[in-house]
Amino acid sequence: MSDGETHGTEAEVIFHISKKDRFPDWYGEICRVAELADIRYGVKGFTPFLPWSVMTMEVMFDILERVLQRKGHLPMLFPSVIPESNLTRETEHVQGFTPQVFWISEYGEGVKLEERLALRPTSETAIYPMYSLWIRSWRDLPLKRYQRCTVFRSEVKSTRPFLRGREFLWIESHNVFATHEEGLAQVKEDLETTKEVITEEYGIPVMVFKRTQWDKFPGGVNTYAADTLMPDGKVLQLPSTHDLGDNFARSFDVKYVNKDNETVYAFQTCYGPAISRIYGGMISVHGDDNGLRLPFKLAPYQVVIVPIFKGKNMNEIVQHCRAIESSLKEAGMRVYLDDRDATPGWKYNYWEMKGVPIRVEVGQREVKQGKVAVFRRDRMSRETVALEGLTKRVRALGSEIDHALRSEAEARFEGLVVDAESLGQVEDALDKGKIVRVPFCTSQMDGMSCGEEIKNKTGGEVRGTRIDVEEKPTGVCVVCGKVAQEFVYVARSY
Ligand SMILES: [Zn+2]
Repeated sequence: MSDGETHGTEAEVIFHISKKDRFPDWYGEICRVAELADIRYGVKGFTPFLPWSVMTMEVMFDILERVLQRKGHLPMLFPSVIPESNLTRETEHVQGFTPQVFWISEYGEGVKLEERLALRPTSETAIYPMYSLWIRSWRDLPLKRYQRCTVFRSEVKSTRPFLRGREFLWIESHNVFATHEEGLAQVKEDLETTKEVITEEYGIPVMVFKRTQWDKFPGGVNTYAADTLMPDGKVLQLPSTHDLGDNFARSFDVKYVNKDNETVYAFQTCYGPAISRIYGGMISVHGDDNGLRLPFKLAPYQVVIVPIFKGKNMNEIVQHCRAIESSLKEAGMRVYLDDRDATPGWKYNYWEMKGVPIRVEVGQREVKQGKVAVFRRDRMSRETVALEGLTKRVRALGSEIDHALRSEAEARFEGLVVDAESLGQVEDALDKGKIVRVPFCTSQMDGMSCGEEIKNKTGGEVRGTRIDVEEKPTGVCVVCGKVAQEFVYVARSY
């Protein structure tokens, strides 16, 4: 850590990159200077995450897990290795995931394992053989479980901290029901959880799509996923939830005895919010040219207190700061008193770049007058607040900040979707960072070649059909000219 000697009292610019114009630079630099991740580990796609990002992700996990538990999911934790014979039991699933699987085939001095072990790319094939042992009768259902873990996928696309890595942090929830209807209700609940947590708590607006048949979860019946918009106009997939029907139940023998005393297959769903990826999306959506802007609900430190002193009054000011620190902490806030040996200006910059939502500045004059200066990071604005009303004001500012960040992000969604009737129009709109709605022949497997044509000609991917709005398509498929059956949405993506 630096000291007052090497950092002048003048505020110096530590971070200033145009997020909109130079997003990849902005992202790489903020990961470095705000000490979020260190890309020097030396293995492609594997990145150490540092305290500031991990502390934020812990808060994000807490919020999501609380909601899952409230909705009846219980935590569990499975081993991170899956025997090859289990991984290969569901044919479509194994075909979809095999290219991405890391294998363990030996230990010690080259001793071969009898059976190869996969590092889990996702845990259906680890968990469901055990479900088949645990579930006996209708009384055991529904079974709603989740685990918080890391998964491993050998991504071929270029990797980037948080957004795309070969080991990432997530929650995967695996649920078993007596009927398909209950499974579909769970999918709906997962999408509500997505809105409730990702949008309302993390402040990230999303659009929800039913993915096409060629882009669904391998082995499932249907996939539903939420996309958000990144500053460079590409979309980023956030949680997806999958209706597995009874496909996996048939492969893994997940059966139960129903009330009529018949043994029948169960129905399953799974839901996979990747917290590290959502974190990457969150900092991208909310950050600005001066660095991070963390929502008050998510910030590891919601308030930093910076004492301003000149030598002899140091003790008095710091004591005063400690009293403020205690009262804010007693009110349940995450607070950090920065009494390090550095200038106030340097500290201001440091915490602004790290995105701490609120800063309390305490100097001699403030102590005398029973007031403090309160700075809010999202607007870079300052106000004077009387000490007796400080806790109340900070709390109110916290929710104002969260509201403002979310509204700003939602405003960028407005006018984002445009219509197109030719591939040329699609490409133009994608170049402008839009999501494009096009009439399309079908999102069933038959439409795959038209989807590929769109990708080849425009660089955009078919994200699927909307499920939150009822849409009647008109006209003909933008590629093949057959009568359109659906509107699909096309975007460039991460
Ligand atoms: Zn077509």
